Amino acid sequence: MAKGKKSFLLLNYFKPSIYLESYKKVNLESLKNSGIKLVMCDMDNTLIGWNERIPTTDVINFVKAVYAHNMEFVLFSNNIRSRVENFAKKAGIKNYFWDCKKPLLGKMKLVKKLMPYKENEVVLIGDQLITDVLVANRCHIKSILVSPVGRNNGESKFMQFLENFIFKRLAQKNILHEGFYNEGELGGNYEIL
Ligand SMILES: [Mg+2]
Repeated sequence: MAKGKKSFLLLNYFKPSIYLESYKKVNLESLKNSGIKLVMCDMDNTLIGWNERIPTTDVINFVKAVYAHNMEFVLFSNNIRSRVENFAKKAGIKNYFWDCKKPLLGKMKLVKKLMPYKENEVVLIGDQLITDVLVANRCHIKSILVSPVGRNNGESKFMQFLENFIFKRLAQKNILHEGFYNEGELGGNYEIL
């Protein structure tokens, strides 16, 4: 019994604040009204497929929209410098971090030092429970889980297995169901944020 309870608590580390189909569904107005000042975002399979290099018009417009809402944008990727830097420059992203080793906290602490926002003023958007959502919960910031851009996401078999395993456990505990998003087409008011 005690063991069951403990694993239930651990599962909460993989629970996003919001679950959306895509970054395109993010309601920036709502985030701003919730006090968010810094939007951090994963790159691969969140903004772009792992085998693509060039940001789409939608990505460029999204980044512009974040800045237009007077929020900061940080690209926060586990990928290598050349790929992250190239993408960031083409997308008009001013602040970007590569080799972040999510879910480890090292780079997150660096961001916090460089951009000293409060925990409740930061949100991280990403497609993976075991990297993005976990790192967000470990440092007590909000998270938005989105469905991966591509079907084949370029992750190792083991990482895919782990991700699927956690999704199944979250569904069993009625915490999160894959494909059951918090919002409809127009975006809601993020009551759970
Ligand atoms: Mg990703």
